[in-house]
Amino acid sequence: MSTVSPSGTPVPGQLTFVAPRRAKPARHLADLTMAERRAVVAELGEKPFRADQLSRHYFEKFNGDPGLMTDLPAAAREKFATALFPSLLTSVREMTTDAGTTRKTLWRLFDGALVESVLMRYSDRTTMCVSSQAGCGMNCPFCATGQAGLTRNMTTAEIVEQVVAGARALAAGDVPGGPGRVSNVVFMGMGEPLANYKAVIGAVRRMVEPAPDGLGISARGVTVSTVGLVPAIGKLAAEGLPVTLALSLHAPDDELRDTLVPINTRWKVAEVLDAAWDYAARTKRRVSIEYALIKDINDQEWRADLLGKLIKNKLVHVNLIPLNPTPGSKWTASRPEDERAFVRRLEYHGVPVTVRDTRGREIDGACGQLAAAE
Ligand code: SAH
Repeated sequence: MSTVSPSGTPVPGQLTFVAPRRAKPARHLADLTMAERRAVVAELGEKPFRADQLSRHYFEKFNGDPGLMTDLPAAAREKFATALFPSLLTSVREMTTDAGTTRKTLWRLFDGALVESVLMRYSDRTTMCVSSQAGCGMNCPFCATGQAGLTRNMTTAEIVEQVVAGARALAAGDVPGGPGRVSNVVFMGMGEPLANYKAVIGAVRRMVEPAPDGLGISARGVTVSTVGLVPAIGKLAAEGLPVTLALSLHAPDDELRDTLVPINTRWKVAEVLDAAWDYAARTKRRVSIEYALIKDINDQEWRADLLGKLIKNKLVHVNLIPLNPTPGSKWTASRPEDERAFVRRLEYHGVPVTVRDTRGREIDGACGQLAAAE
């Protein structure tokens, strides 16, 4: 769109929609529909029911190593390992906080690209926050990921593997609180999910399809968070997948949003809100508006008032996120009294609002802090 800085890091306002062309990782079972898995198994000269068997191992037992699938003939195990279970994610580092119930994993992909995922266990649910791109091209100045630029899109299986890794750890009892399962997935890690549309939709399908096709997570438990790519929001609404849409608004006026969320120079506040209302109408799902409260930048009462007027009487919920610190940023979270006043203004308009309890700040695992450095 505009000039690229010589270092590869984006200049202010620069948007990168097309990911650099890079080699893709090898095909994995999780990239494929059940019909496609059966076709691959048949090509390998094996009985089609083996596709079900492999899928049960992967999506029910979280076993991605045919060497351990002892109910398969030894010769077939090797063929399946090569054809359907390449190693996609290698754990480089794990950091935990909240007595082990929040854990961030740094992953190396096959080509050396680094991404992060975060598992958050609460009393009533466990959420996996996943990455959909290595880096991000959307360049929001308050987000650490956005400052590093876009390395490449992730594949469906690379996205799914992050959830399976969390499910495996939970099932094995590796997370304090006893054996458990992943109940929620949020696309709030690295990347702009709607800029990697096809792979993300594939991943969502794998997550919500019941076993053995997929993980059997409720679509209502899956949240796709976006800066507001209007045409892609329309496409998502037509998928027939009732996932929750989260819109990173952060400002109710174009003048400020142009600088905080540069995509706003393409699609304005009014347009993106229209897309959100259309999404709510078509899916019957409450849209979540994400708003990071930044001290003296977007936290004025008049902005809360303007936001309230724009969204009142809609199928909506506002999630206020106290700004998490990022390296080199001059911005900080709002004063507690300003945060309270902001909440009160929204409540005055009858808008449901919560302040997000941001987990993982101590391990740079909170919203906007994922930067994936070794
Ligand atoms: N690209 C997508 C998803 C990733 S970010 C999106 O922008 O929606 C997930 C959420 O964290 C977004 O709402 C994002 O704006 C917010 N976020 C980014 N940096 C943040 C920071 N430093 N503090 C608090 N929230 C932040």
